[in-house]
Amino acid sequence: MDRRGGSGAGVSFFCLLRVGGFVINGSVLPSAADLLRWYDRHRRTLPWRALPGQSADPYRVWLSEIMLQQTTVTAVIPYFERFLDAFPDVTALARAPQDRVMALWAGLGYYARARNLHACARVVAENGGCFPDTVAGLLELPGIGAYTAAAIAAIAFGRPVVPVDGNVERVTARLFAMADPLPGSRKAIARQATTLNTDRAAIARPSDFAQALFDLGAGICTPRTPACVLCPWRESCAGNRQGIAASLPRRAPKVARPVRHGVHFCMVDAAGGILLVRRPEKGLLGGMMGLPGPHWRDAPWPQAEALDHAPTAPRLRARWQRVGQVKHVFTHFTLLVDVYAARISTFPNSLVGAEGIIHDVDCDDVALPSLMRKCVELARDSNIFD
Ligand code: SF4
Repeated sequence: MDRRGGSGAGVSFFCLLRVGGFVINGSVLPSAADLLRWYDRHRRTLPWRALPGQSADPYRVWLSEIMLQQTTVTAVIPYFERFLDAFPDVTALARAPQDRVMALWAGLGYYARARNLHACARVVAENGGCFPDTVAGLLELPGIGAYTAAAIAAIAFGRPVVPVDGNVERVTARLFAMADPLPGSRKAIARQATTLNTDRAAIARPSDFAQALFDLGAGICTPRTPACVLCPWRESCAGNRQGIAASLPRRAPKVARPVRHGVHFCMVDAAGGILLVRRPEKGLLGGMMGLPGPHWRDAPWPQAEALDHAPTAPRLRARWQRVGQVKHVFTHFTLLVDVYAARISTFPNSLVGAEGIIHDVDCDDVALPSLMRKCVELARDSNIFD
């Protein structure tokens, strides 16, 4: 996910002499001082980012990094601000009921991250509310992988590490004209990225250096049209010199995303309630509320087979109507959901047992994943609720 370029005029990139930058493996590295000068003038103001001269708050850094996984800065900002209002520190988040956390997360997707976020807050709260200040310590926490540990360690604790996200990966591939395609080249690019902070200026300001890399990738070295003319690293960028920057990093041809099929049932009563069930803890959307329906599978669900899975109860007469299909794209597959809707007078008690919850049809304060909201909206558009 992409979220976030020293000059040594006349530097020959693959020369063996040091001219204005460090030489590593025969390559001249761009100057961290040039990047930091650029950053001091052009840094973005972000709600989780410390102002110049202030210390970063590890809680804000951690929260933003978890939210930014697979999601853009623009999408994250309102969620981040709502979270901070509700849970001003890690202890407040740890104490919150999981449903409240999930409700505030709903819409950001990747719900396992929200559960891990909550689990992580509890572990940190049990340790006095302090996050570990090393990459190794951070990696012990739930939901924190190599990138996130490096980002928190660098930004919040000033550890001299380079967090390699999509932006840093792209900048590095271009700086060093690394033409082997992703994903096979990912490790090599990450290894090369670790050489970027080896000069004295980067080591003196690890937090700013990491964020400067993010900002360079987000604002200048953008995926389609890098603004090389504005880049503080243009003189030492091999991709720019060779005229291939915009084509890097290359990617191996994509394998078509498989399609899976699902069925969900939207049952509404005369009082405007709909039946929701909690999904199993394991698997996609685990532990979230959703419309009832069978498991998702590779084959389509013929209507007769689908209706065998409709919610039922003695003496319940529901006339199910297929109201359309919802398409939802997950990272590894596309899901096509046939949506059936039925209107009944009132929900029988047997249906609203331990599993079922009747919820107001607006679903405003329930943690309903985007897929399920799309299904409810499709049913609503069918006038079945009228
Ligand atoms: S490709 Fe352009 S924008 Fe990106 S690092 Fe090189 S000179 Fe800078």
